[in-house]
This record gives sequence, C-alpha cells and structure tokens, in this order.
Amino acid sequence: MIFAGIVKTSLIDYPGKIATVLFSPGCNFNCFYCHNRALIEDFNELLNQDEIDDYLLRRQGLIDAVVISGGEPTLYNDIIPFCAKIRNLGYLVKIDTNGSRPEAIKRILEAKVVDYFAVDYKAPAHRYAEITNEDVDPQLVLTTIDLLLKANQAFEVRTTVIPQLSLEDLVRMAQELPIVPRYVLNPYKRPLRYRSEDQEKVDVPPLSEKEIATMAETVKLYQTNLVLPF
Ligand code: SF4
Repeated sequence: MIFAGIVKTSLIDYPGKIATVLFSPGCNFNCFYCHNRALIEDFNELLNQDEIDDYLLRRQGLIDAVVISGGEPTLYNDIIPFCAKIRNLGYLVKIDTNGSRPEAIKRILEAKVVDYFAVDYKAPAHRYAEITNEDVDPQLVLTTIDLLLKANQAFEVRTTVIPQLSLEDLVRMAQELPIVPRYVLNPYKRPLRYRSEDQEKVDVPPLSEKEIATMAETVKLYQTNLVLPF
C-alpha cells in the first residue's frame, strides 16, 4: 500500500483506543464535502514506507491501533498483507471505507486481519449519485454492510449530516440499512478545500449539534444503536 498522510496520535478514530491513522490516496467517490481532497485529486508526496514501518515498531505498546483510512483504502489489492503485517506487530487494525467494494471486503473478512470497520452510508439510495458525484450503486454499500453483519464483525456505520440531508432523508437511510451495531451521525464541517463548482453546496450553513440531536431522536426509532459523537 502507499500512504500520503498520517495522524500519529488520535483519540477519535478508533472507539476507546489510541490510534495512528494512515491515509491512502485515491478514491472512487468525489463527495463535495470531502475533507481529504488533496488525497483524492493531486497527491504527489507519498510517505516513505520504511519510515512508517520504523515508526510503528517504535510505537509498540504506546498506541493500541492503526486505522487505515483514505481516500478509499480497499482500492489497494495489497491491503490484506499490509493489515497482517500491522497485526503481527500487536496493533488492532481498523479500516475506514466508503463501502463500495464488497468483493474486497469479503476477501479481507476471509483473511481475518481487521478488528474493526467503519463504513460510510452517505445518502438515501436515490440520492447516492448526487451526493458522491459518481455513478455509485448504493446496493454495493448495503452488500458490504450485510457481509460485515453476517461475519459477526465489529463495525460501525457513519453518516455525515450534511445540511443537504433532511430529516426525511435520514429516516429513509435508517430504514434502508439493516440494524447495525453502532450508527454514528457526524456533524458536517465545511471543508477547507473544495471544487469551485461546489462553492454553493459547501457554503450552506451546517446544522447545529442541537438540531442534529433533535433529528437523532427520530432516527433512533429505526437505528436503535445510534450514537452522537458530541
Ligand atoms: S468517500 Fe470519503 S475520501 Fe472519498 S470522496 Fe467521499 S469523503 Fe472523500
């Protein structure tokens, strides 16, 4: 795998654990609110793999987990040996994914090299292409979630509550999903970098935490394991 970014110590990317987050470049979605636009558009500086290996060796016992994020890390065919290598160092491994590659998730599950997954569910099915800016089949994401459930795998589903999603959308999404072990509603934060044609969308004011909490009361009727990160 290749990586173009690292957060050495994070308390928020793996529930209850101290983690290092590695960001792989490239994504098959193009969400207007992406916070990693540099990773999906014009990455040119890659981290040195030997330095990552050396860093992870030195941090053994000091951090609990490594999160492989992106971009979309399942685009890399060598993700399984990379996860195995990290696990052999004694770390828990988490993958953040947009869920669009269930065949890759199936192979990763069979290899049993990942402890926790976070899967984005970005929009109600009929608005998926609009929100991700790609001709995405939302059924692929639902298939990924189904695979994780059937494998009894620890995971969560996350939705960023962009201001373009109404309560009706959120309820519809909660109904489209099976009941998942943990469903997180994250507040939208305006990205620093965005495409000029998305200016209007990114400028819509975010919902307040209070507004999201009020919506969550209704969404929780359909996703009982809903949690708010604030
Ligand atoms: S799926 Fe994630 S990394 Fe890919 S464009 Fe959307 S927000 Fe960015």
